[in-house]
Amino acid sequence: MQKIISRDMCNALMVWFDEHRREMPWRGSADPYHIWVSEMMLQQTQVATVEKYFHKWIERFPDVFALANADLENVLKVWEGLGYYTRARNFHKGAKYIVAHTKDKHALFPVNYEDWLKVPGVGPYTAAAVSSIAFKYPAAVVDGNVKRVMARLFCLGDSISTQKYHKMLFEIMNEGFHGHHPGWVNQAWMELGSLQCTPRPNCSTCPLNEHCCAYKNDQVADFPRKSEKKKIPTRYGAAFIIEKDDKVLILRRPEEGFLGGLWEYRIHIKGT
Ligand code: SF4
Repeated sequence: MQKIISRDMCNALMVWFDEHRREMPWRGSADPYHIWVSEMMLQQTQVATVEKYFHKWIERFPDVFALANADLENVLKVWEGLGYYTRARNFHKGAKYIVAHTKDKHALFPVNYEDWLKVPGVGPYTAAAVSSIAFKYPAAVVDGNVKRVMARLFCLGDSISTQKYHKMLFEIMNEGFHGHHPGWVNQAWMELGSLQCTPRPNCSTCPLNEHCCAYKNDQVADFPRKSEKKKIPTRYGAAFIIEKDDKVLILRRPEEGFLGGLWEYRIHIKGT
């Protein structure tokens, strides 16, 4: 089967998206900062959780200058509860980079995918999301949901966690916008993966079932191909709670690495 997103497929996807898309506080916005905030929060976090944090964040840091000028401590405090604090640190670094590199306050942000990739902490997913949604730049967003949808749509046998697979989808999808707004097409693919082509998909009502290789061949359960699970290492450690005069000793972990920069009781993990 040819790995091409045809105009008919794209049109069917967009009709479905118009009818089924969920409302989100940032959806429909063309403000690059708001889109950037939502995309940083959405990595590894459910939409419902992000909705609660998004407003709080915008209230506290209404624009990229407010974020860049804030103390990292305050940034981490507002992020508290979202987990994966590296994202907050990177976001803060990225905001500083934008403010330091801007020459014109009316054209603060990079417009294209390649320039977004130069911003510290911004990877291919965020670069494609922000450039396509805010600036209509034709760069495909390849997230976990999209990888699953494409594997089924084209019966792709490759392991979905490889760079090679990511690159292949990026190329296929970049040819599949067919004149639609790239940001909306990207969101439509992600929404299809979240609502329809889920791990237990609802194929009978899917707008793409007549184009779907896995469905037509009764092989939906075979895709995506599972890669071998990485062995999770077991580590042993001991925590010491040191108290004196009603005070407890806590230490800060190094900035880089596991739980970087967070506070902890004195913990010694074997081998570290
Ligand atoms: S037909 Fe089923 S497997 Fe194929 S894209 Fe639609 S939901 Fe996914």
